[in-house]
Amino acid sequence: MATFSARTHLALPWLLLGVILGLSCLIEKVDGNREGELNIREFDYFKLALQWPGTFCKSTRHCCSKNACCRGSNAPTEFTIHGLWPDYNDGTWPSCCSRSDFDPKEISTLVDGLEKYWPTLSCSSPSKCHGGREKHGTCSYPVIRDEYHYFLTGLNVYFKYNVTRVLYEAGYVPSNTEKYPVGGIISAIQNAFHITPSIVCSKDSIKELHLCFYKDFTPRDCATVSSINIEMVTSKASCPKYVSLPIHVSSGRDGFPSLLPHD
Ligand code: 5GP
Repeated sequence: MATFSARTHLALPWLLLGVILGLSCLIEKVDGNREGELNIREFDYFKLALQWPGTFCKSTRHCCSKNACCRGSNAPTEFTIHGLWPDYNDGTWPSCCSRSDFDPKEISTLVDGLEKYWPTLSCSSPSKCHGGREKHGTCSYPVIRDEYHYFLTGLNVYFKYNVTRVLYEAGYVPSNTEKYPVGGIISAIQNAFHITPSIVCSKDSIKELHLCFYKDFTPRDCATVSSINIEMVTSKASCPKYVSLPIHVSSGRDGFPSLLPHD
């Protein structure tokens, strides 16, 4: 009995310490969740997601000023940027990593380039984080430290690795009639950049092409497996053996396709 009470006596301060530590952890976690994902693990690599307007714009049902598919002869005809995404090696990714709000003023000097090369290809708003914060850029920290440099980096990487030109030079030209072997398209990128991209299709049209980079922006394969085959890099097994790079025809008054109602 005496031993028991002595043990209890000795254990009490530790017990109290444990309760205090437990409570403080709990408070920090609640605070972290509420304030902005303070405990999010740093990403492993960057994925430059490019979108093929000819495929995206096929699903345009109505127009609005922000939808680049509706710019008539100024609608994009080359791969454009969908996003520069910080990703984890296990196939997941972080999002909404900071407390700061997206501030359009910070990127005002980049607007022309962004509208042309990083355009929105629909009228629906891009998915944002709670409170309007940027979804991917905030997770690029500490490699990219602010909004301006996130968008500038996206543009610079896009210009350096010109996928449209590489495919064009390999004979894969935009066409509404030609079909190309997806293996040939992947080889063209491999030969040019020494990395294997991943490709996403919609039916038999290329919808997206992803290039991946280490944190210092040297290129790396997107797939993390050692034995890469065509099935693995044509994401979600969404591409057939032969694919197309369709041309989007945006005609009509004021750059808006005829018959499509405006927003
Ligand atoms: P979707 O369903 O069109 O493939 O993706 C919808 C959104 O999820 C994208 O706009 C992007 O914000 C996010 N997303 C999809 N795939 C990836 C990915 O591989 N990495 C990251 N970081 N985000 C992705």
